[in-house]
Amino acid sequence: MSGSMSRRQAIKAVTTYEVETDGFPEPLADTFGRNVFSLSVMKKRLPKHVFKAVAATIDTGAPLDPTLADYVAVAMKDWAIEKGATHYAHVFYPLTGFTAEKHDSFLEPDSTGASLAEFAGKTLMQGEPDASSFPNGGLRGTFEARGYTGWDVTSPAYILENPNGNTLCIPTIFISWTGEALDKKTPLLRSQQAMSKQAMRLLKLFGHDNVDTVVSFAGAEQEYFLIDEHFFYARPDLMTSSRTLFGAKPSKGQEFDDHYFGAIPDRVLAFMIELDRELFKQGIPAKTRHNEVAPGQFEIAPVFERSVLAHDHQQLMMTTMKRVAEKYGMKCLLHEKPFAGVNGSGKHVNFSLGNGNQGNLLNPGDTPHENMQFLTFCGAIIRGVHKHGGLLRAAVASASNDHRLGANEAPPAIISIFLGEQLMDVFEQIAKGGATGSKSAGVIELGVDTLPPLKADPGDRNRTSPFAFTGNRFEYRAPGSNQSISDPMVAINTILADSIDFVAGELETLLADGADLNDAVQKVLQELFIQHGAVVFNGNGYADEWQEEAAARGLKNLRTTVDAIPEYTSAETIEIFERYGVLSARELKAREDVNFEYYALTLLVEAKETSEIATTMILPAAIRYQGELAGTAASLKAAGIDAPTPFLGEVTELIGALHTATVALDAAIAGLHGDDGQAESACALATLVPGMAAVREVADQLEGVVADDLWPLPTYNEMLTIL
Ligand code: ADP
Ligand code: MG
Repeated sequence: MSGSMSRRQAIKAVTTYEVETDGFPEPLADTFGRNVFSLSVMKKRLPKHVFKAVAATIDTGAPLDPTLADYVAVAMKDWAIEKGATHYAHVFYPLTGFTAEKHDSFLEPDSTGASLAEFAGKTLMQGEPDASSFPNGGLRGTFEARGYTGWDVTSPAYILENPNGNTLCIPTIFISWTGEALDKKTPLLRSQQAMSKQAMRLLKLFGHDNVDTVVSFAGAEQEYFLIDEHFFYARPDLMTSSRTLFGAKPSKGQEFDDHYFGAIPDRVLAFMIELDRELFKQGIPAKTRHNEVAPGQFEIAPVFERSVLAHDHQQLMMTTMKRVAEKYGMKCLLHEKPFAGVNGSGKHVNFSLGNGNQGNLLNPGDTPHENMQFLTFCGAIIRGVHKHGGLLRAAVASASNDHRLGANEAPPAIISIFLGEQLMDVFEQIAKGGATGSKSAGVIELGVDTLPPLKADPGDRNRTSPFAFTGNRFEYRAPGSNQSISDPMVAINTILADSIDFVAGELETLLADGADLNDAVQKVLQELFIQHGAVVFNGNGYADEWQEEAAARGLKNLRTTVDAIPEYTSAETIEIFERYGVLSARELKAREDVNFEYYALTLLVEAKETSEIATTMILPAAIRYQGELAGTAASLKAAGIDAPTPFLGEVTELIGALHTATVALDAAIAGLHGDDGQAESACALATLVPGMAAVREVADQLEGVVADDLWPLPTYNEMLTIL
């Protein structure tokens, strides 16, 4: 497919496109997990003692005896080769946020010239990709290229199919030879472990001595756009920047609210069905699929899983979405704001805590005893979000997500919690209850006479809160569609480790002083809510008044990525990340550096592309039209007809303005500077962003004037509605 297809040719190609499908012969039941080296496959193929050890590691986080890896490697290799694999790949998640894989053949020539399949425990456990091409934020000089991948036992290996041969994929972590995390997976595993340790300690106070792990669960709702690939290839801005840098608003957008949950177009449905099948094969529990608010926008949501596994599955899901879309002649756009003025795409991360014994710890439950435990965990979350809202904001910061956050469609850049009326009432009573010192039995001792039976449905929903309690989980709504869920989950796990540690410590002290559990919980939660209740906001997060009120409450409002990224290395962030062994100050600084680097780079690429499209596509179209108009004016004059030529003056003026704006943008690009990533990012924000906006404004006006047959770029209407 070339980038030279004209807009006209693209429209013709799209409107005549026919969907071809082969259908799906095999029954659904045979599909799920078919390509996964799952526990059930391992149970059949591994010696009993090996299987038990591996299962314990996956279920409870117990360390795995490395000498058992040889057994697993052999079984995994045999299984993969039976499935048609010729190669294996260590799959890892570098700081780019994407997925990386290095493939190696199973075949190794031996001394007799024959080839033998070779795959030992050490190959399974450790790989050594050249790490120099991955961002490391200064954790490693380019001369120190060594990086290691290490097998993550808790995330199952799987087969990646290709008509020409299959590949065994092994999820791994990625570290430098000094042991520092160069990836998004290592801190996720570390934070999970830290949170688990503290949560078990707290559970013990509630009488659960038998807990061997607490996991954080995540379920990510993924929004995306689909457009026909012909339009995509006729838009150099989509090709380089994944978003449209130009485009007048469509005459009919989402105003009619007719797209959300609407009938799914056949071609899209065919894509969704195949996507679900492909995900099922990989053991990814895709569940919900529907149209989203904007035309051309859709959503897929899987059933929640352990957050570490959900992360890997989410990454694989994004790759699979792009791959399957291409099969249907479409491009899947995961950018947070591919179309200005049209709803952007987020990735709501739903999370909860629990395990096989205790179930969901964020389920309010029926009995007062369970409610106390729930309220304690809930209180810990309130405290964590209040203390570390800046970090949570930083965890979702990117140049692309800046187009959503704080705009009128996604939760604002102020991180607050929505509890809902009922739960809010409970906490307010706790805050007061301490003062009245109620001493009756049961839950009343908490000062919560009216504790409602908080079933899974706690009442109304709030779509404007970045962090909302939704019945049995919290939903973090600020993450962007293109993001790895690692950063948000690492932040959540880590602030929970800290908060649960704090709450457990307070309770332990009171209990040691002879307080009974009810009194202790009441006292701790009361104090906690008085200190941290300011983060709870149940109103309209999109309203202007909230900005003022939030400021009065002392909540941070980090509007842009440039404001937010430094939160990675704030004293509070470093303190908790080091205390729980999630990331060192150096590792955090590396992340800050990489994020700044990507921010500035993203804006630079966009600015260059904006200038190029304005110069080589839009100005030429406008000048051609100006020429036509001028020709008409001259002909009229020659014929002695004294009539104005409409638009000639306007087009001429806009051409001048577009040229001026483009020259100014070029100057801003040339002048981009900064002693470090932060300074350069700040400069890009101050100069490139308004520079691009100025060019776009004039260009979008021209789109409304220049003859349609001369306009080079597929329009918003075309891209969003012709599928
Ligand atoms: P809605 O659009 O109403 O928020 P969806 O059905 O689109 O709901 O998505 C809800 C997401 O929340 C799914 O990914 C689901 O698996 C996830 N989820 C549900 N319960 C939990 C839970 N206890 N912990 C974590 N995630 C959950
Ligand atoms: Mg949803």
